[in-house]
Amino acid sequence: MPAETLFISDLHLSATRPETTRLFLAFLETRAKAAERLYILGDLFDAYIGDDDNSSPNREVKTSLKRLVDSGTEVFFQHGNRDFLTGEGFSKETGVSLLGDYSVINLYGTPAVITHGDLLCTDDVLYQAARTRVRAMEWKNNALSKPLFIRQWYARWYRLKSGLDKGKKTREIMDANPQAVIETLRNHHVSILIHGHTHRPAVHELSVDDKPTRRFVLAEWKSTGQLLSWNAEGDWAIEIIE
Ligand code: MN
Repeated sequence: MPAETLFISDLHLSATRPETTRLFLAFLETRAKAAERLYILGDLFDAYIGDDDNSSPNREVKTSLKRLVDSGTEVFFQHGNRDFLTGEGFSKETGVSLLGDYSVINLYGTPAVITHGDLLCTDDVLYQAARTRVRAMEWKNNALSKPLFIRQWYARWYRLKSGLDKGKKTREIMDANPQAVIETLRNHHVSILIHGHTHRPAVHELSVDDKPTRRFVLAEWKSTGQLLSWNAEGDWAIEIIE
């Protein structure tokens, strides 16, 4: 079997979705173990409030990721908007490498850019302004300095607020902006873009500067999961995990 790289995104693991956690833990023991590399493109957790939060399912997830890394699969993680507080502690505990917002990777000879996807949604001006605010080192340090129970309380409030805000926005505003997509492909000199975040799984083909390009949008996990696999021969496939 040729070497293989897997991509997943938007699992939104939380105590309220035990079936998704079970699915993910089983995936780590089986499918992911057979792969050379696993890229998690953000929002692995639905509300990550710091590396010191070891409540369920964080503990089980970290233990299983560590086991996968120890078994020989390289695992990489990009921050999503729900788990951008994942830090060095998480990385040390699991052996998972943290990547920046945009990362150009080598897919067996083909360069590709990977990103969570929220930065592509440039039409959502309010979200982007809030994002800039909370990603500042000072904001993060201040948030992480609060006692765990305060952060837990805040996360509950934030989830409620985020749900309400979403209802007020149009579908277009919350999707990737076509120009941002083109610029991302162009600026990174690649013909492949892989992201999640929008929960609108698709494989888009588009021409950028007269060159054919592909944009893979990964699905969110619920009672079933989804992944993109890519092997050393250059074959890719979208797979459903159940
Ligand atoms: Mn997201």
